[in-house]
Amino acid sequence: MSHTHIALSIATGLGFTFTVMLSHAAPPDTSDAQNYKSHKALLIGVDGMQYEKLQQAIQNNMAPHIAGLNPAKSYIGGIDGTATEQTTGSGPGWTTILTGTWVDRHKVPSNNNAWRNKAPSLFKQLKQADPERKTSSIVSWNTINNNFADDIAQGFIDLAIKCSDVDQCVADKASYELEYGRSDLVFAHFDEPDNVGHRYGFSTRYQTAIQGVDDKVGQLLSALKRRKQSNPDEDWLVLVTTDHGRRLPDGRNHGAQTLSEKTTFIALNKPANEQLTRPITNPDNPGHDNLYGFASQADITPTLLAHFGIEPVPARHAMDGLPLTGPLGARLFSARLAPDAAQVNLTWNGDGSADKPVHIYRNGKQIASVDYSRRGYIDNDIKELKGPVNYTAVIDKVPVSRLITLGDKKP
Ligand SMILES: [Zn+2]
Repeated sequence: MSHTHIALSIATGLGFTFTVMLSHAAPPDTSDAQNYKSHKALLIGVDGMQYEKLQQAIQNNMAPHIAGLNPAKSYIGGIDGTATEQTTGSGPGWTTILTGTWVDRHKVPSNNNAWRNKAPSLFKQLKQADPERKTSSIVSWNTINNNFADDIAQGFIDLAIKCSDVDQCVADKASYELEYGRSDLVFAHFDEPDNVGHRYGFSTRYQTAIQGVDDKVGQLLSALKRRKQSNPDEDWLVLVTTDHGRRLPDGRNHGAQTLSEKTTFIALNKPANEQLTRPITNPDNPGHDNLYGFASQADITPTLLAHFGIEPVPARHAMDGLPLTGPLGARLFSARLAPDAAQVNLTWNGDGSADKPVHIYRNGKQIASVDYSRRGYIDNDIKELKGPVNYTAVIDKVPVSRLITLGDKKP
């Protein structure tokens, strides 16, 4: 454990009790510090880079750096028809990537400078686990740093730079920080493929924009290589991703719930687990050509936090994604209110952890442990619950959560 926790039980006027875990900013214990201080991460975001067009660029040898990180298919936009559904726009997309949550938690529903992320960000979770860690957010599309203005104001992002749509500025500032800076986490965001996509659609220019970004990814990787010569003990996770695809047939737009707009990718410099490498081929929800059997953009923040050695606390876990390295959690975890509103049906899928128990938490309190093979649990003790309820399923110390809002219209 890297911190001290105090559990407070609070009785509410609504007749139920919930538990709040207070985390004290104690430094990590020596063994954690030894193991993880040298773990650092570079998260590279490329706006609006459509998966098939990236594959095309890779086949034409126009994206060798990203190709070297083995991009695998993933999805954005939440699950349509549920509270997690969000537009395939950049504001919601980057906020999902940087928080591990969907719009029902992060509350950034569209592209607007005024929205403020409401979920604990990657930056905040890293700094709270270890205040000595340093973080950077260097963005071409300034709105990202506006959506995370609270994180900047509260000191969770140490170095925040807006490059105002100049991708070379991002490449230069991030390269400098990687080679000479003190950041443990660098987020670098490029925007050219999205800008070119809006202007020209799928075209030679779009493919050239992908190539241009790949060059800049190469610039960052070279800076990291030079840094490693003087810091050979450091262990850098490098992850490249995008925030949304593009609408067919011409690729000019995005925002809707179509397969091409929802399809994204995640590329890693580490061996990934089956959440990324082996999609579930028969998800309960077969929408968008079984897209929900793939990893999602909500998996990125949990993956980075796992690399930093931050052990999740099930009782206060509130992220919708799973780590893409290490042990597998409860894949396809979902929480649905039954039609008669008398029970909540929790389900999960996948066979990676077949003989493991699944521990179920509701609002921070463990309510059950069931065999993984049951693929679900029914919570029929919900009469007293009202408003947002956070369910968490834990396998092998890996939690994943879903929020469900219970109304007052129950019979
Ligand atoms: Zn766009």
